[in-house]
Amino acid sequence: MEKLKRFTAKDAEETYLVPHWASGFFRVGDDGHLEVTPNNGTSPYASLYEIVQALRDEGRPMPVVLRFPQVLESRVRQLNEAFQTAIRKYNYGADYRGLFPVKVNQRRMVVETVAASGKPYAYGLEAGSKAELALILAQDLHPEALIACNGFKDDDFIRMALMGLKLGKNVVITLEKFAELSRVLRIANELGVEPQVGIRYKLKAKGSGQWEASGGEAAKFGLTTPEIIRAVEVMAQAGKLSALVMVHAHIGSQVTDIRRIKQAVREAAQTYVQLRRLGAPVRYLNLGGGLAVDYDGSKTAFYASANYSLPEYAEDLVYVTKEVTDSHGEPNPVLVTESGRAVTAYHSVLVLEVVDTIRPPGEEAAELPSDAHPVVKDLFDLAQTVSAKNYREVYHDAFSDKDTLQSLYDLGLISLRDRALAETLYYQIARKVWKLAQELDYPADELEDLQKLLADKLVCNFSLFQSLPDAWAVKQLFPIAPLSRLDERPTREATLVDITCDSDGKFDRFIDLHDVRDTLPVHDLRPGEPYYLGVFLVGAYQDVLGADHNLFGRVGEAHVMVDERGFSIERFVPGEKARRLIENMGYEDTELLASVERLVRQSKLGPAEKGFFLERYAAELVGYTYLED
Ligand SMILES: *Cc1c(COP(=O)(O)O)cnc(C)c1O
Repeated sequence: MEKLKRFTAKDAEETYLVPHWASGFFRVGDDGHLEVTPNNGTSPYASLYEIVQALRDEGRPMPVVLRFPQVLESRVRQLNEAFQTAIRKYNYGADYRGLFPVKVNQRRMVVETVAASGKPYAYGLEAGSKAELALILAQDLHPEALIACNGFKDDDFIRMALMGLKLGKNVVITLEKFAELSRVLRIANELGVEPQVGIRYKLKAKGSGQWEASGGEAAKFGLTTPEIIRAVEVMAQAGKLSALVMVHAHIGSQVTDIRRIKQAVREAAQTYVQLRRLGAPVRYLNLGGGLAVDYDGSKTAFYASANYSLPEYAEDLVYVTKEVTDSHGEPNPVLVTESGRAVTAYHSVLVLEVVDTIRPPGEEAAELPSDAHPVVKDLFDLAQTVSAKNYREVYHDAFSDKDTLQSLYDLGLISLRDRALAETLYYQIARKVWKLAQELDYPADELEDLQKLLADKLVCNFSLFQSLPDAWAVKQLFPIAPLSRLDERPTREATLVDITCDSDGKFDRFIDLHDVRDTLPVHDLRPGEPYYLGVFLVGAYQDVLGADHNLFGRVGEAHVMVDERGFSIERFVPGEKARRLIENMGYEDTELLASVERLVRQSKLGPAEKGFFLERYAAELVGYTYLED
């Protein structure tokens, strides 16, 4: 047999599609380690595997989220510079004033890093609730940075927004529904402040991809056209038309097709023109979120991808807005976008440790005892005869033998030993058939399922519901790759399962340049050597939508900086303790302890054992919720 070519870092990059999805932030080093390059170039860099080992040396348990504030900073810079470049290129007559919608990730490190790195660009923040506004008002922003208040509002929300305005912050209240207008006018009057109001309107243009329903006429948020006319009339009558400063339109998240975006921009720019014609001094055009992340790296309109780049997005928004407004003789508006996903997705990596492998049978040799059932004997013969010529026929025969055996077993005619042997033989045949089919250009469709059937299941110490909720809720895809051994050819195919007792807690759809892969190429685990998988682009939504299913809580997180000397772990935020999760369910830890104490006291245990039991129980209450050995 021809000797296989050495597997290199380059090969690993193609296997895991790293250059396709990493946007320059990750790469494979020659030593086979996955590396982060937070400045989006070649230097500085750090090995993710070494970062994880350093955390282990400090005694930090898995799973862990690695956060790279520098990556976040790079994204804020890239976004703002893309718009500045487009504005210069098309000689656009106004600025860009982006907003980060904090709902995408309200974690303190995220919001503070975004605020600090956005300050030179007068980059602002967007709130969708009172609590979000409360944290936003305390951030150190550029004085001209916008603060937009979206979402449904009560009097308190509006009052807090107007107080912010009075304190010198550039707060705009977006009207999501008509009834909010009279509240805003009344409370502004009470506080003696001139409000700044935006109108969100229902785009006719729809997004593309998974969040298509966020736009269109049936959208949850936004005013209808007759309501917009009424709002203008009400404001004019109150002598407050000057407060109408912004038009807001959001077509949904992860819009994969640039044509949909351009269509929406054209429509929104037209609404800006029409509102100005009605006498409203609108000066901000807010095009909402939707800037997509290319999770699978395919650069297509597939739901996990995007058929456009950030510079192209910025150029199209600038160009179309200029074209529409210039042609109607209206000034170019200040452009606002609320990109959340595209700003935060890249900055964090979820690290999973593989704690066990579940392998389907059929790799071991099988011997046929003389008293085996005839159907088992038949399977045995099939397993010996499978070849390139007959593999499909053999597979069909094996399949029917398997059915027969099941019926016989149900009738009590097959022993457990025979059944075990039959299972081994069936998988032996399946493995041989799959191997032969793979060597063909066009394997039959019926054999496609074999890949999944024969894949290893890697048990990973995490909860899908806590750490990758969108993978469960909306079947989102994330790039996944081993953090080490990337200079070795992966020899196994696997799916991943988590440690919740929910059968949905698994990962069996992986990125591919064409559609989706059923399995992930992985290495054969070596005893005593940890094997870590990185799940990438998880910095948007995943951090904050997680659920405490099975009482697996928030995981620990490390904030990591990278410079020419290497990496440093700036901060470690421990994961949630069991007690916190239990208390969230309405229990009091003191009551739990008291009950167990009573149980121990009444037991027949010796005093040493009593002490030990109570100590262990108390320790568990303040312990990490994941597997720790
Ligand atoms: C969720 C949301 C965003 C963020 O969208 P992304 O696709 O994550 O950029 C922006 N604006 C509004 C109004 C939103 O509801």
